[in-house]
Amino acid sequence: MQHESINKLLMEQSVELVRAIYVGPDGIARGKAFRPDSLDEILESGIGLTQAQASVTVFDHLPAESQFQPVGEVRIRPDASTFQVLPYLPGHARMLSDIETIEGQAWELCPRSLLKTFLNQLSEQGMVIRAAFENEFTILKNVNETWQPLEKLNCFSSAAMDIASPYVLPIISALEKQGVLVEKYYPEAGHGQHEIPVRHQAGLQAADQQVVFKETVRGTALANNFRVSFMPKAAPDSAGNGCHIHFSLWDSSCEKNLFFDPAGDYALSETARYFMAGILKHAPALMAFTAPTTNSYKRFVERCWSSCYVCWGPDNREATVRAASGFKGQEAATVNLEFKPSDPTCNPYLALAGIICAGLDGIENKADPGEPVLTDPALLSPQERQSLGLAGYPTDLGAALRALEQDEVLRTGFGESRIADYITMKRAEIEMIDSLGKDAEQSAYLFRF
Ligand code: GLU
Ligand code: MG
Repeated sequence: MQHESINKLLMEQSVELVRAIYVGPDGIARGKAFRPDSLDEILESGIGLTQAQASVTVFDHLPAESQFQPVGEVRIRPDASTFQVLPYLPGHARMLSDIETIEGQAWELCPRSLLKTFLNQLSEQGMVIRAAFENEFTILKNVNETWQPLEKLNCFSSAAMDIASPYVLPIISALEKQGVLVEKYYPEAGHGQHEIPVRHQAGLQAADQQVVFKETVRGTALANNFRVSFMPKAAPDSAGNGCHIHFSLWDSSCEKNLFFDPAGDYALSETARYFMAGILKHAPALMAFTAPTTNSYKRFVERCWSSCYVCWGPDNREATVRAASGFKGQEAATVNLEFKPSDPTCNPYLALAGIICAGLDGIENKADPGEPVLTDPALLSPQERQSLGLAGYPTDLGAALRALEQDEVLRTGFGESRIADYITMKRAEIEMIDSLGKDAEQSAYLFRF
């Protein structure tokens, strides 16, 4: 958006504060807000930020071993094209931001800039990724000063839709006012769990849209006196909150879905098979970014639709990658892949960058995804799974971090320094959660994401 149009909106809508939001490696949307009359200056030079902020954990704890400490500065640099007046919070507007060096270069730890690097790699090969993040979240209502799930009804329950209507409609309206195209809505299987799938977007906009989605759902809830949680296991005794990532590769004009081949098995092209094979090969390491909290691993429960074994399958909702069938008459536009071991605590820029990094490795090596799994792998015996080569997921965040440490492709693709800092930060988070005991996860993650 042009500066003049932004200035006009700021005036017309009586905006008092403009937030420059970035998502740190820890997955939390953070930012600094400024007064509208400094817009030009801030678009030009950015806002000061300590480098150390990229290394802090969800507890705002800066590990002593992190390479970035309190000396050293970067800039939050808002991207004018993402400007939105917040429809759910009068007087506020938002811009999504990159983190830059003082000289104005992309900073080595900026997640949004990392994604741009991978999008450029795709573009050099004549490809664009389209993706949608499919969030599940828990709606909580205040009962005697505690936050309890809104209802305990069934998956897709019409009765749950009745109960949730006053909660869900304001969210949908706020999303659409910001140009997010809501495709569907339904209650999910978990207590108080609901899902609002949105339209896929190309490249950077797909990840930006995920930030806008979560900001809007949380902010609209607060404005309407309820709360939501994106914590993977917000209600410990029911289904977890996933954030499956749907994606497909397109030619550079975004006209041809490169994953679709009517002659291929399950209408999948060779490109789709190679890309998927790369993702399967790197899945345990990738999960350090897509399932990035200690709580993420409690979501992976057999027969709970979260997927638990590394495999792929056509329309298999218990597979790491589901090859989603195309819709009749629109096959060429709708065939896509769905990555399941991802949840809404992920930093969308790192998650999508990881998917591209792993997928491109698959394309480069013409990797083979293996045979599709046509049943729920949990229904197979351990021997059957072993003979099919189906490995279980990392059992906890520590195991995913070890897989990341050993994954040369992700390490090189993301840069050794970024990976080292990420692992240090996440290990400090695990240590803190462990030391705080039983309720630590709930208080750390329930409302932070
Ligand atoms: N809640 C499930 C998960 O943890 C997903 C259910 C579904 O297939 O949408 O990912
Ligand atoms: Mg779902």
